[in-house]
Amino acid sequence: MKQFVILSGKGGTGKTSVCAAFAWLCSNNIATENTTYVDADVDAANLSLVLQPTSSEQHEFWGGSLAEINENKCGGCGACVQVCRYDAIFPSKSNPQAMWVDQIACDGCAACVYACPDDAIQMVKQQEGFWYRSQTRSGVIFHAELFPGRDNSGKLVTMVRQQARLHAEDNGSPLIIIDGPPGIGCPVISACAGVDHGLIIAEPSQAGIHDLKRIISTLDHFKVPSTIVINKSDIYPQGSEQIRQYASEHELEVIGEIPFDEAIPNSTLQGKTIFELFPDAPAAKELRRIWSKLTELVSDREKDYGTKTT
Ligand code: SF4
Ligand code: SF4
Repeated sequence: MKQFVILSGKGGTGKTSVCAAFAWLCSNNIATENTTYVDADVDAANLSLVLQPTSSEQHEFWGGSLAEINENKCGGCGACVQVCRYDAIFPSKSNPQAMWVDQIACDGCAACVYACPDDAIQMVKQQEGFWYRSQTRSGVIFHAELFPGRDNSGKLVTMVRQQARLHAEDNGSPLIIIDGPPGIGCPVISACAGVDHGLIIAEPSQAGIHDLKRIISTLDHFKVPSTIVINKSDIYPQGSEQIRQYASEHELEVIGEIPFDEAIPNSTLQGKTIFELFPDAPAAKELRRIWSKLTELVSDREKDYGTKTT
């Protein structure tokens, strides 16, 4: 089983539309029709929206623990305030003799629990979101929703990937395609660790080139082989040329250049892939070519490894 992750240095580069197009191609090919999908953008999942689930199972996601003070036990000594490095403990508004924990500020370090002479503080496990297993017209997708203000996005991405892997193993999926989160933070690290290939969607703008460099260094750090696709490559030719040059200097291949094509946003707005509504659009033709090139590259690399190890 192979795992591909599709990434971009920021949101809005067309990453999800590319993922949805690949999902359609996979579901229409007997060798890949049993592919499993992951939407690893747990702050704003949208691959699942484009693939339109027909049914969904919802599961609670429980993250870390936060401190809670039992005001009836608290003697107001202030020892907890002294040890809290996150300034999360204040006098209670309802009972000024007792203390109260601001759970947004609390880091869950538990120092206050050990400092309290009255045994008034306990750590309470927090539900931080949901994860879902949904059936779509392209196959099964695992996705999630992190509650606002929670910061366990990396852990939730790891959980969703683990569930997808278990499903893929149980059901003989040949491939897991991960729609990665934007940026380069914790959830991106969780999304790309251990994958077989990273496909970076880059836009030819100064900001896009900057984001591309950041995401390449993240993938390099995890030793994930990667290739680049330039999206809207014709809107700023000089920018596309800069990406090609940067890629060549870093021995990275640009495996495709998708032209600006209204067919992509138009199909996404209607909850469809470009192949369902505009199969002959220039972008659709390039996406087919990119998918074929990507699968070829990964299978050639596998043959190379086989040769080296025999
Ligand atoms: S658990 Fe740590 S961060 Fe939270 S209130 Fe206690 S000392 Fe402060
Ligand atoms: S250490 Fe315990 S008793 Fe003292 S103020 Fe904090 S919660 Fe209250």
